[in-house]
Amino acid sequence: MVLVDTHCHLQANQFQEDREEVLARALARLDWLVVVGDDLPTSSLAADLVRDRVYATAGIHPYHASNVDSETLDELRALLARPGVIALGEIGLDYFHEYSPRVDQARAFEQQLALAGELRKPVVIHNRDADADTLAILRNHSERLPGCIMHCFGADAAFAEQCVDTGFYVSFAGNVTFPKAEKLREAARAVPLERLLVETDAPYLAPLPHRGKRCEPWHVELTARALAVEKGVSPDEFGAVTTANARRVYALELAVETPPQASLLGLQACCEQ
Ligand SMILES: [Zn+2]
Ligand SMILES: [Zn+2]
Repeated sequence: MVLVDTHCHLQANQFQEDREEVLARALARLDWLVVVGDDLPTSSLAADLVRDRVYATAGIHPYHASNVDSETLDELRALLARPGVIALGEIGLDYFHEYSPRVDQARAFEQQLALAGELRKPVVIHNRDADADTLAILRNHSERLPGCIMHCFGADAAFAEQCVDTGFYVSFAGNVTFPKAEKLREAARAVPLERLLVETDAPYLAPLPHRGKRCEPWHVELTARALAVEKGVSPDEFGAVTTANARRVYALELAVETPPQASLLGLQACCEQ
């Protein structure tokens, strides 16, 4: 089964003791994976982990939005120029925790989307209980973004359809396997296979039967198998299609071999629908 983990936090403290072993287990089973940053230190650590089949993102999570200033954006720009740093994220809005005031979240989100548009980098979006505002802000920038991933999707099928209609990819994490997550499974069924992605968000949200324990990137297999059932396809087909999706939205070949301003293929992938 060909498969990728499109979103994990392997730089997190939870992996301090055995990070290389966890990474080895992941790379033995997965094609490649993406280590996602959520502030400057974790984005820098993610970039340090880049190697063959390991990519990184850099961005400031809405939790930390109040800290974003022009210096932060300059440092992000530098991180995004490092090899293997293929996207800007995770960024977005979180009205559930609201650790930063909403006005700061919106400002930091807009500033980072503008940067992504300028650098022609895809974006990884964190949205919690902020569906309408997240979509409205993204729509303002969607023309300049080469790709957009709604990570750890947590909303309903109607919102998933709106995201697909806007040209985005929708990524599901291990919580889609939980018994009470029928709403999430309904959302997954509403997303065309060609727009689906699968992730762990490790160390969080381990899928069944590891729920409540530390999640590792290879656990993405369990989530993929559950999603394949929902989509009525074999695990092999599910893995092949979602891996191709991930290469497309992250503009992998371009990200690795050419400078960001040449990412025109990625742009087409976003606009062709
Ligand atoms: Zn997130
Ligand atoms: Zn995350």
